[in-house]
Amino acid sequence: MSLKIAIAGNPKCGKTTLFNTLTGANQFVGNWPGVTVEKKEGRLKGRKDITLTDLPGIYSLSPYSPEEIVARGYLLDEKPDAVLNLIDGTALERSLFLTTQLLEIGVPVVCAVNMMDEVRKQGVKINVPQLANELGVPVLEISALNKTGLTEAIAEVLHSAQSGKPAAPRHCFSGCVEHALAHIEEYAPHNRPAHLRHWYAVKLFERDDDMAEKLGLTDAQLAHIEKNIRTCEAELGDDSVSLVIQDRYAYVDRVAAPALRFSRKSGSLSLSDKIDLIVTNRVLALPIFAVIMGFVYFVSVSGIGGTLTEWFNEGVFGKGWIFFGHDIPGIPELLGSLLESLNVADWLSSLILDGIVAGVGAALGFLPQMIILFFFLAFLEACGYMSRIAFILDKIFRRFGLSGKSFIPILIGTGCGVPGIMASRTIENEADRRMTIMTTTFIPCSAKLPVMALIAGAFFGGAWWVAASAYFIGVAAILFSGTLLKRTKPFRGQSVPFVLELPAYRVPTARNLAHSIWERGSSFIKKAGSIILLASVLIWFTSSFSFVGGVFGMADDMDNSLLAAFGKEIAGLFAPLGWGDWRSAVATITGLVAKENVVSTMGVLFHTDEESLEATLAGAYSPLAAYSLLMFNLLCAPCFAAIGAIRREMNGPKWFAAAIGYQCALAYFVAMWVYQFGRLFTGGGFGLGTVAAIVSAISFVWLLVRKNAHKLHEI
Ligand code: GDP
Ligand code: MG
Repeated sequence: MSLKIAIAGNPKCGKTTLFNTLTGANQFVGNWPGVTVEKKEGRLKGRKDITLTDLPGIYSLSPYSPEEIVARGYLLDEKPDAVLNLIDGTALERSLFLTTQLLEIGVPVVCAVNMMDEVRKQGVKINVPQLANELGVPVLEISALNKTGLTEAIAEVLHSAQSGKPAAPRHCFSGCVEHALAHIEEYAPHNRPAHLRHWYAVKLFERDDDMAEKLGLTDAQLAHIEKNIRTCEAELGDDSVSLVIQDRYAYVDRVAAPALRFSRKSGSLSLSDKIDLIVTNRVLALPIFAVIMGFVYFVSVSGIGGTLTEWFNEGVFGKGWIFFGHDIPGIPELLGSLLESLNVADWLSSLILDGIVAGVGAALGFLPQMIILFFFLAFLEACGYMSRIAFILDKIFRRFGLSGKSFIPILIGTGCGVPGIMASRTIENEADRRMTIMTTTFIPCSAKLPVMALIAGAFFGGAWWVAASAYFIGVAAILFSGTLLKRTKPFRGQSVPFVLELPAYRVPTARNLAHSIWERGSSFIKKAGSIILLASVLIWFTSSFSFVGGVFGMADDMDNSLLAAFGKEIAGLFAPLGWGDWRSAVATITGLVAKENVVSTMGVLFHTDEESLEATLAGAYSPLAAYSLLMFNLLCAPCFAAIGAIRREMNGPKWFAAAIGYQCALAYFVAMWVYQFGRLFTGGGFGLGTVAAIVSAISFVWLLVRKNAHKLHEI
């Protein structure tokens, strides 16, 4: 009698190692996930009648990744005679999460706890008989690497396969969920074997489209099922996918914890686990995250970073500083006297001082703040905190219609939007991926820091909350967009939760941190020497020359320059946002090339010999208008490089145009609301702008709360 045995388990749990040993094959064994995407088949050594299948590593039986689709398709459609569920003994709980699902699919299951050599080395014992008793299937200890326990495991699997008795899961879901499942079973999977009905009901409860299609349900049946799901969701206040996940984990906890605690030598939680108890705590996680990010921006923009930047700006690019009683001149003064002594032409010295030094210097002046921000971001990433944040935000993001996986691109986007947008490739669901691409650049990238710092310094006394609020408004814009876009047809559908392994906390090495800071810092300096320099020269040129009486020459006043003529054409567009001044309109346009250009352009256009940039800026706008300007530049289309990345990743001019259009529109309205409502509350009076703000705000709220016409399964 020929038998088919499937080896199933999480990535990296040793399936291929076991498969190779048992079949004598030589499949590639890799110590990273995703090596085995295709399943591999081989014959058990010495038993030509027994086929072994090495399935790709999976965390669940939901169709979230190519691996899961391959594995689930095989298990459900080709019906192996038994499943050998390989469990990573060093990650018992994560492994058992999959086990609960394998037990439901109506095939005989045998669990083999692998990596036992490693488990013992860690001083941990696993109470295998207790585990077997709880799960209701045989459990054995093996080490695929040391080839121990394999004979027994194979004997047990063959025995189960021959008996043909499907595993009977002993876990159940919480009352309300089981209630819904019972109803769903009534409607739907009557054409399936009785012992599989529950499994199909669970999948339908999770709104699994593939299963619904496979069962050939009618629209009316689907509508009934959807109603049951909704009732349960409303009662328990969570989405159905989360409810199922929570119940599975609750069960796994009940089973795994006693099996481990029973004999764990060390007996206590590791330091990492203890930190996680607080940091990923349901209630505290978000406040802690907010405090940490607030602290990061406080220190880098207002604290040490602010002091250093001020010193750097005033000293190097300003009036110079006093050092032990000696006057040390800054670059402008040094260069000025040098140019004077060389007797260079007026226009050339203006190009150098009012153009290059004022423009490039304005951007470079923020280097100290950027380095400190880079340090914190690198530290949070390297120590393992950022992966916790991804874990915490997964659930929140899904509630807003975004994939939990979106957080990774967004996280990378805090450094630079380009790799952030590219990181969206890890999201399998096309609608989710597009939505992530559209929203990633709302998070302030490091190039936006100088803009935030300039506005904080000039208008708000360097207050830390300006930059921190930009960060949180970025996050809010992402969540808002998620909710809004999910309500439109192209983006509908359920978002996918993701399983992420949390690495233990680690103290980052100085070398790693230095490397990361250097990489980001040097790219900023390179930009200052290329794009920002070029833009500064261009801005200087067009703002210094004009046609006077039909003759091209230096303008008497910047207000009569070529650039002013162009700027005034577009400035009106921004008047409802409070900064209809041509100079800020031009700065915003140059910001589309590189965001630092906003600062360097301001540097050129507001440059005077008497006052600092901050002082002249503060004289030109109200703080409210300045904050609105910041909002627009924070949310509007990103720089050329990131726009290019969006175009490539969207593959299609329509999607690309939709992304850029949406970003600019959202930026425009948010800036308008800030300015118009702010004015209203500060007694600025009622005008046409106020009406526009109210009408647009109401429209957005309507888009958000209108009945969701395109929700899944609704007819
Ligand atoms: P797969 O992704 O499940 O196919 O896992 P692999 O067979 O590719 O193994 C992943 C890693 O775990 C490799 O580095 C193996 O050498 C290692 N490994 C596999 N089994 C054991 C084991 O029993 N003990 C130890 N210590 N390592 C193992
Ligand atoms: Mg493998």
